[in-house]
Amino acid sequence: MAVKYNPQEIEKKWQQKWADDRLYEVSEADPRPKWYALTMFPYTSGDLHIGHWYAMAPSDVHARFKRMQGYNVLHPMGFDAFGLPAENAAISQGIHPFTWTMQNIDNMRCQLRSIGAIYDWSREVITCLPEYYKWTQWFFLKLYQAGLAYRGKAPVNWCPRCQTVLANEQVVEGFCERCGAAVSQRDLEQWFFRITNYADELMQHSGIDWPERIRLMQRNWVGKSQGTEISFALEQPGVDEKEIRVFTTRPDTIFGVTFMVLAPEHPLVAKLTLSDKKAEVEEYVARSRRQTEIDRLSTEKEKDGVFIGAYVVNRLNDEAVPIWIADYVLMSYGTGAVMGVPAHDERDFVFARKYNLPIRVVIAPPGWQGEELEEAYTEPGIMVNSGQFNRLPSQQGIEAVSDFLEEKGWGKRTITYRLRDWLISRQRYWGAPIPMIYCPNCGIVPVPEQDLPVLLPEDAEFRPTGESPLKYCEQFVNTTCPRCSAPAKRETDTMDTFMCSSWYFLRYASPDCDTAPFSVDQVRYWLPVDLYTGGAEHAVMHLFYARFFIKALRDMRLVDFDEPFSRLFNQGVIIVERQKMSKSRGNVITPDEYVSELGTDTVRAYLMFVAPWEQGGEWNDSGINGISRWLNRVWTLVLGGYSWAGEVSPAVRQKAERELSRITHQTIRKVTEDMEKLRFNTMIAALMEFTNYLAKVRETGAVASSVWGGSIDTLLLLLAPTAPHLAEELWQQIGHGYSIHNQSWPQWDEELAKDEEITLVIQVNGKLRDRIVVPANITEAEARQIALERQRVKAYLQGRQIINIIYVPGRLVNLVVEKVV
Ligand SMILES: [Zn+2]
Ligand SMILES: [Zn+2]
Repeated sequence: MAVKYNPQEIEKKWQQKWADDRLYEVSEADPRPKWYALTMFPYTSGDLHIGHWYAMAPSDVHARFKRMQGYNVLHPMGFDAFGLPAENAAISQGIHPFTWTMQNIDNMRCQLRSIGAIYDWSREVITCLPEYYKWTQWFFLKLYQAGLAYRGKAPVNWCPRCQTVLANEQVVEGFCERCGAAVSQRDLEQWFFRITNYADELMQHSGIDWPERIRLMQRNWVGKSQGTEISFALEQPGVDEKEIRVFTTRPDTIFGVTFMVLAPEHPLVAKLTLSDKKAEVEEYVARSRRQTEIDRLSTEKEKDGVFIGAYVVNRLNDEAVPIWIADYVLMSYGTGAVMGVPAHDERDFVFARKYNLPIRVVIAPPGWQGEELEEAYTEPGIMVNSGQFNRLPSQQGIEAVSDFLEEKGWGKRTITYRLRDWLISRQRYWGAPIPMIYCPNCGIVPVPEQDLPVLLPEDAEFRPTGESPLKYCEQFVNTTCPRCSAPAKRETDTMDTFMCSSWYFLRYASPDCDTAPFSVDQVRYWLPVDLYTGGAEHAVMHLFYARFFIKALRDMRLVDFDEPFSRLFNQGVIIVERQKMSKSRGNVITPDEYVSELGTDTVRAYLMFVAPWEQGGEWNDSGINGISRWLNRVWTLVLGGYSWAGEVSPAVRQKAERELSRITHQTIRKVTEDMEKLRFNTMIAALMEFTNYLAKVRETGAVASSVWGGSIDTLLLLLAPTAPHLAEELWQQIGHGYSIHNQSWPQWDEELAKDEEITLVIQVNGKLRDRIVVPANITEAEARQIALERQRVKAYLQGRQIINIIYVPGRLVNLVVEKVV
């Protein structure tokens, strides 16, 4: 017997050899078809836990599979390295964010190497290095030139006593952490990307294979709705505005309006509020300013508001409608005003009940007899109490009311979106500086391309103040205007890190390109990504922004494709003791200890086996020990030798060889199909079954040594993506050349994989009635079932009952029947 399976030794050895030989480096000159397999790059948080492995190991297995199938596979790795956690760690540990980040990268790179993946490290990308963020800034300039980047107002936290902007962390339950004053929201000029230009296209996912739930989340995020903007007349003396517009998807409910609600920050509030309501209104406005939008929109929050004493007129029925303010209406959505239709909107219903506002039914629920409603009726129905529109069904009513409003000039059909432009300014240190300059003569001036990168100064004080730390870094701020050479100031905000991750997959194609963000030829060769894997939590952030980015680049003619990721797959989550892993629970599984005890190949195979990949599963120590035993069995099976029992008869040998060949080809088929569909758990199960079967064959010794050897080769080839080190070692030990990872994926022969078949005779009361061809390994239950379902047999069962079924394996099914009396 050869040496024991020692994963630690062979894994280190092969990882070193593969690295020395640059086995996994890829080139565009390769004649094979390309395959770009991408895993979302990790944030540089410090340690890889088993959740990272769950994202990375199975995707590496699939990439290796494609490689053996004859593709030129790019499977790169890098680091998402800018962002808040580095800054927070820097503050709490007194270490510079750059140092903290680079230390983490060193550590994580070691851990990533231990996965034994085919990462081409020569293409590593780190977003916080100037050679990368230079191009992030370059893209900002391109978006600016294309009219897709602009400055606009957005709210920040403002402490009126300290007279300063505050970071979110400095606001404690709406009050200033330093002085205790109530914090308000103040608008500040910040940078936005016009992602709304692409709203319609971002709702389409044509030509890409993405999970339905992600597509749905993105469509909802865009939130397109068709409706009508309706003008209500304003007739208040001394106020210039003569109307307030609202947007609704239900103009058929216009006769049910009994109040109107404005956002507290609506510019008309101050003008319209009657003097005896002023104090109450001002207090309410101040209170709502202390709340975030998320709080304001929370469904758990009780909806409250204040009547401001003024009215608008509903032009369709000339009714005066009282104006309220309530913080569930946001100025940034639609027009900042909504019509209240309590009978037909749940939120309005609750609000009307609370403040005793009339609830008027204008869409009759089925069987409605004029009684009061217990809850809002939000479905379509027949219009009532609606003047000339009575008796119209909702759908027709919507059109008829809209037509009427448009004729009268009181409204128009329109489309609104929930999606808003992407606010990318961050008042933070650890990000790519926005490459803009403010000149007293020329205004906003972009940094000339040849002056990029705008380097992040090393010695900034990065404590969070709500303002960018760069503001206080004089040698950074003060510059000269590129146009007129006058003294000028730099933009001091940095970019949202989602900007860095919106294009990193392009950089992998040509990471060393220093004349452009990427080489056009290399991007044309590799992109789009063929399979992108990662967590579903990125649905409306990263995965959305990256799509916007590529569409914008396409329109600038920088790339020639529409979508960055052709196929998307979201893996599930690994839980421990039925809970999510988290540092605070102290239940984080670190792969390192399992790797050093059981080996990388075992951890990889276990993660594939634990559950369907898209569902995720529970980490379990006895489960991983089972996998370890299996790989040990493979080791023994392959190296334990084989001796043919020469005395078996040719007939026995032939039968045994035919069976081995059939099961081998069936296994190839099963493993290949599961690999394609990323169904790794059933793939591992098939490999385990195959191992067990081979162990039985080995005991009988009935097949010729060459036939045995062929099946062992197949086992190792099928195992190579999952347990790359073990497979490489065994491949070499049984005398094949290096490397198994350059071998072709085994092919199956449909003829050889076919189940052996026999002909079953079906009798009814001993008389031959039918013959059927079935698999030789059919069970008795299956045979009975098939016999009873045959049309020809059924004819003989009419009016009879079965009293017995006799089954002779491999030969016949006899149904014993008698007449029903
Ligand atoms: Zn303060
Ligand atoms: Zn100037």
